[in-house]
Amino acid sequence: SIPLGFFGGIGGASKQGILVKGSNYLEALNDVTHVVFDKTGTLTKGKFAVTTVHPIDMTKEELLQYAAYAEVHSNHPIALSIRNAYGTNIDDALISDYTEIAGHGITVKADGRTVVAGNAKLMQKENIAYTEPTEIGTVVHVAVDGRYAGYLVITDAIKEDAAKAISELRALGITKTVMLTGDSKAVGDAVGRALGLDEVHAELLPHEKVDEMEKLYAQKGAKEKLIFVGDGINDTPVLARADVGFAMGGLGSDAAIEAADVVIMNDEPSKIAAAIRIAKRTRRIVW
Ligand code: ADP
Ligand code: MG
Repeated sequence: SIPLGFFGGIGGASKQGILVKGSNYLEALNDVTHVVFDKTGTLTKGKFAVTTVHPIDMTKEELLQYAAYAEVHSNHPIALSIRNAYGTNIDDALISDYTEIAGHGITVKADGRTVVAGNAKLMQKENIAYTEPTEIGTVVHVAVDGRYAGYLVITDAIKEDAAKAISELRALGITKTVMLTGDSKAVGDAVGRALGLDEVHAELLPHEKVDEMEKLYAQKGAKEKLIFVGDGINDTPVLARADVGFAMGGLGSDAAIEAADVVIMNDEPSKIAAAIRIAKRTRRIVW
């Protein structure tokens, strides 16, 4: 039977907007030593804005239009920002053969042309020579009919409470904080430095995030528990693999909320420390 105190713990957590799906997760939070984060939507707001547009042999408006065509059906925060910057509704009849490739980007037929929009990995896959931008930001390269058309730089912002979240975790005895991201090394390292994370692994595909997590499992002690915190876009496999998977409930996808063990309703990473504190208090009451 479940000790009554756990219900108090779960109830207390829910009052703080932390939904814990079972007393076993609250119990496991007592022994957490490793906290692994996704970047976009988890430590950063996931609200990108297009900051610069660098076309080649076309106008900025044209480049933005091709990018918006490509992103027409994507739920990725990157796609939302590009559609916002374009600002005009896109006629669905112009678009066909839409393919979204996780951790890469999009290929699509738009207005009679083949458009490819995504990161450097996608350009390499499609054999398109691209320019390496010098500014730091998430880069979306665009190619039209096999020719490189330039790139957009879009930037996100670190969440207000992210630094506090990391320092509170340290104070609670977390020995390792790690970020796994599909974004570039430049962006990943910038966020990692700003927050003082112990490790950053960038340019990862969804299955490579799981591989990194397996390495952490192999390093840590058997009794030490690992949390993963994500927003569920391209990270449900890691959410499922963690001892305790946290999902951001506000921005997060339904699939993430489903796959998670704990849901943070208001998307604040500092709620992870709050959940651990509740777990420790609950254990004292129960045992
Ligand atoms: P993260 O770990 O930051 O959440 P994702 O796995 O969601 O990253 O995406 C990794 C990278 O793949 C992005 O930084 C971007 O370069 C590229 N990408 C993914 N989806 C898209 C998209 N819809 N349009 C353009 N690029 C994309
Ligand atoms: Mg993500």
